[in-house]
Amino acid sequence: MARYDVAIVGGGSAGALLAARLSEDVSRQVAVIEAGGEPTDPDIWNPAAWPALQGRSYDWNYRTKAQPGTAGRVHSWARGRAIGGSSLLHAMGHMRGHPEDFAAWVEATGDARWGWEGLLPAFMAIEDHNLGGDGIHGKGGPLPVYLPGEEVSPVARAFIEAGAALGLPRVRGHNTGEMIGVTPNSLTIRNGKRVTVADAWLTPAVRARKNLTILTGQLVRRLKLERTRVAALDAIGPDGPVEIVADEIILCAGSIESPALLMRSGIGPQDVLAAAGVACKISSPDLGRNLQDHLLGAGNLYAARRSVTPSRLQHSESMAYMRAGDFAANGRPEIVVGCGVAPIVSECFTPPAAGTAYSLLFGVTNPSSRGSLRITGAEPGDPISIDPCYLQTERDRTLFRAALAAAREIGGLPELADWRAGELLPGPLKTKSEIDSFIARAAITHHHPSGTCRIGNDDRSVVDPDLKLRGLDNLHVVDGSVIPSLTAGPIHAAILAIAETFARDSLAAAAS
Ligand SMILES: Cc1cc2nc3c(=O)[nH]c(=O)nc-3n(C[C@H](O)[C@H](O)[C@H](O)COP(=O)(O)OP(=O)(O)OC[C@H]3O[C@@H](n4cnc5c(N)ncnc54)[C@H](O)[C@@H]3O)c2cc1C
Repeated sequence: MARYDVAIVGGGSAGALLAARLSEDVSRQVAVIEAGGEPTDPDIWNPAAWPALQGRSYDWNYRTKAQPGTAGRVHSWARGRAIGGSSLLHAMGHMRGHPEDFAAWVEATGDARWGWEGLLPAFMAIEDHNLGGDGIHGKGGPLPVYLPGEEVSPVARAFIEAGAALGLPRVRGHNTGEMIGVTPNSLTIRNGKRVTVADAWLTPAVRARKNLTILTGQLVRRLKLERTRVAALDAIGPDGPVEIVADEIILCAGSIESPALLMRSGIGPQDVLAAAGVACKISSPDLGRNLQDHLLGAGNLYAARRSVTPSRLQHSESMAYMRAGDFAANGRPEIVVGCGVAPIVSECFTPPAAGTAYSLLFGVTNPSSRGSLRITGAEPGDPISIDPCYLQTERDRTLFRAALAAAREIGGLPELADWRAGELLPGPLKTKSEIDSFIARAAITHHHPSGTCRIGNDDRSVVDPDLKLRGLDNLHVVDGSVIPSLTAGPIHAAILAIAETFARDSLAAAAS
């Protein structure tokens, strides 16, 4: 039996950061327990290869339930299964979010730490941005963030010009708190290579620490509970069952596996546990609920007038965040249109040959549809039933129509005329139902499942404002599952800021 002061379950984005930060305190023995191995596939570090990584051995490769809102389609959900977690697979976009996104978190928690101002020190601390030193972007942090310059594709440049012609401000990246506008995307790339969270935080010097143990190939099967404490972790390693004991447990298994592991351990909604044949030890009615994700319409496709050279970045090079009516009006964005320097379409359409077309992607920034997930049995091998309830609300459908209309408006502007031979998709759409039917077939996941262990100060919330699981004294959840509502853009930066804030407070508490 192995014994530690702190056991971190999951060495993904949040877990890898926490392993490095918490082991700065040499008086604490820290272990990180990861189901996957160390990443070795060289394609991981090639930014343009990111879409091809899905389905490989280090992807958990989930499937959702068939979605009535997206023409009955089943969606593949990629999740990283190795040290570095989903930061090995992601598209490298770094977007903090809009201040009003975090105002909703303060409202949910009553805790100013989770507001824009409260999280700003953490955003600054994690980043080493090429704009750093300007008072708003971080400088000298572990994670390189790069606002590209000359590498931006001429198609994306024309897209930016088209956005500006619509009146959208030319913002300097998406990370200053002003998101309405158009800009190249900021990326976690350095010298042309992806930087994973493991690369950034688990450096050789950190890995050499005597008080940090990284256990790979160890799947935590369940938490053994004794009254109000986790007494041990029951894991399966390469050589069979392993028991791991720690004073403090930090669950960083991500938005799918964190709630699933808690459910397998007897924590969750009573009806869900009963149906899965698991005895309920701690009732947590909202665990697994509040599941949310961004969708992107893929895509509003254009035949190119001349050859589109492959992206030198990661294909999705620029995003325009907009209001749905008056596109450039101030405030929190409602819709997004992105420029894909490739023929990006959902599986419902046949993509034209590479180099002959480009796509404008479109979506809703803060969807109101909420889904849920549940275990179907007590063992890790029993499938997890995932129902994101995509496009469930009329609000989301209305905004999605507006996003498609905005993409088509941008796509038809003279600034893109040098590139546009003609629109291939969707083509003529006469009725609302034709528009909805196209959106339902075009929508793909933007890969941001979250919210299944939501933070809050209400009794039903899964974790309290300190990220402590309600009902247990020594378990915190720190990963994408605690996000109570989506940020307007991709969520990785926000997850890292949550983890950094938790680490800062934990180190300060240990020192006092
Ligand atoms: C294809 C793709 C593209 C994306 N693009 C972007 C983007 O461009 N920008 C952005 O901001 N976000 C993006 N995201 C989302 C972002 O990567 C994730 O939200 C984020 O990495 C999740 O971090 P996490 O710490 O919550 O979980 P993860 O990073 O998924 O880490 C969870 C870890 O826990 C491990 N684990 C799970 N269960 C167990 C268990 N029982 N025992 C032991 N270990 C376990 C897993 O193997 C994994 O390593 C993308 C995601 C994907 C998949």
